Amino acid sequence: MSAQQSPTAWQAKAACRGPQAAVFFPPPQFERKADRLERERRAKAICSECAVRAECLEYAVAINEPHGIWGGLNEHERRAVAEAAAPV
Ligand code: SF4
Repeated sequence: MSAQQSPTAWQAKAACRGPQAAVFFPPPQFERKADRLERERRAKAICSECAVRAECLEYAVAINEPHGIWGGLNEHERRAVAEAAAPV
């Protein structure tokens, strides 16, 4: 058996596994701004208690994930993190 872990092994410890995963991504139909903000607030509250938040955020930034809440940040917030970390 290999001692190396999969780069996504942290997902087994994700606090968002299960039915609450729905709040992490926008619905297929139009979502009002107030509804989006409330959905994102609920998702970020789950992220704030997650044991693998750092790994999740690092992964989402590395793959340039364009949708949803990952590591406690939405796509705009992750883009700002990536831009701040980019070499000048
Ligand atoms: S940080 Fe948030 S999105 Fe990432 S695994 Fe944890 S609960 Fe899920």
